[in-house]
Amino acid sequence: MRDCFEVRDDDALGRIGALTVPRADRTVETPALLPVINPNIRTVSPARLEAEFGAEILITNSYIIRSTDDLRERALAEGLHEMLDFSGAIVTDSGSFQLAEYGEIDVTTREILEFQHAIGSDVGTPVDVPTPPDATRETAEADLATTEQALADAEAVDTGEMLVNAPVQGSTHLDLREDAARHADATDLDVFPVGAVVPLMNDYRYADVVDVVAAAKRGLGADCPVHLFGAGHPMMFALAVAMGCDLFDSAAYAIYARDDRYLTVRGTKHLDDLDYFPCECPICTSHTPDDIRAAGDEERERLLAEHNLHVSYGELRRIKGAIREGNLLELVETRARSHPAMLDGYRALLDHARQLERHDPATKGSFFYTSTESARRPEVVRHHDRIGRLDAPDRLLLTEGNAPSGDRFDAAWRLLPPFGPVPRALSETYPFTAELPDRTDAAACEAAARGVAALVDANPDTDVTIAHDDWPDSALALVPDSVTVERLGARPDRDGA
Ligand SMILES: [Zn+2]
Repeated sequence: MRDCFEVRDDDALGRIGALTVPRADRTVETPALLPVINPNIRTVSPARLEAEFGAEILITNSYIIRSTDDLRERALAEGLHEMLDFSGAIVTDSGSFQLAEYGEIDVTTREILEFQHAIGSDVGTPVDVPTPPDATRETAEADLATTEQALADAEAVDTGEMLVNAPVQGSTHLDLREDAARHADATDLDVFPVGAVVPLMNDYRYADVVDVVAAAKRGLGADCPVHLFGAGHPMMFALAVAMGCDLFDSAAYAIYARDDRYLTVRGTKHLDDLDYFPCECPICTSHTPDDIRAAGDEERERLLAEHNLHVSYGELRRIKGAIREGNLLELVETRARSHPAMLDGYRALLDHARQLERHDPATKGSFFYTSTESARRPEVVRHHDRIGRLDAPDRLLLTEGNAPSGDRFDAAWRLLPPFGPVPRALSETYPFTAELPDRTDAAACEAAARGVAALVDANPDTDVTIAHDDWPDSALALVPDSVTVERLGARPDRDGA
């Protein structure tokens, strides 16, 4: 087990964790946001981030510090914490981004890690190669070989108590991502950034982000803290946490503010288009959009950056609350409604329902069926996987109505969309206490029909009858031919009578 990370609560693949950063003498609660501090430009000072926003951890770029004479001298003389005026944990990036942008940098993994250690970084980073999405397999493989060498070089450096990142690359080749993750997990390094996903996010390719993270997670142990490198838009935090990401870094709060862009959990707005602020943060409750439009450039940028930070930290608190209450997927579902690309991301997440199911807690507070996607949730997959183990009697009725009197059947179980057959004894347990809308949709009935088919498959000798409440043909078509199908009395309220 990695002793720097402990999972304290979980929901789907999301977790509340404790990242112990020994050099900073801090335990950081995850999911956590790392504001990106440009050592040359400080939109919001690290001291204010700590005092007013509760920042426990931030990230800055050691390559820029090392390449800038006065910053390098100060960092070496005072140490990073004093230079930035921040007492929490400080993560340093290595210049890999500059390598990807400009093609070369003049520092090795050993040199940059020794420099990061010398300036007092708490989590250092080797020089990995961020391979962009859609690279050829040859390029991705060659880059990965370089990254794996960088991880080996990093392991050989004496970094004392400093934690070290082990970036996971592999472009959009999912098998390479998984292999790279397995390789990173086998090192004695500590934190696992999933790299080079920013171009995917910039293009709204959230489904691809989900697939890349899912591949990385398959290769990483549950004790690996995962950093989604460059992910700073609060709109996608819930989705990324549900996939098992623990750390996010945000340059977005400052970069967007510079262009008058205002972050919300439902997407980005431009200050010019806002008549009202849809937010309860201190900036938005004490200013109108007109006030901020009238402010000078620097003031306007700072105010927008502060709002952007408030909304980002607020969303992470909401996500942690959802994990604690066991309704993270309901939150993801809500966020998925804000943009078709987010809906694609959520649907991609459900494509990995079986991977989620292995970690999803067996018992939670509630299952709310709020969209057709709910029919594909891990709880439904889990029930269908286990249905074959239920002991079915010779003559079994599955009904959406009441159990009939008489001895036509040996037992009457519930027929419960989207789960399917549910023995009465399990009725009051999670997730069968699910809340569904009265107007059940086709997706829920179809999922229930697949559950019936799984039961029949496992119990070929059982004589199964279902009594359904007006199921659509698409669901009835999934019920095996051997099943006797009866329809409960048509509901007058549905016929408008
Ligand atoms: Zn606000």
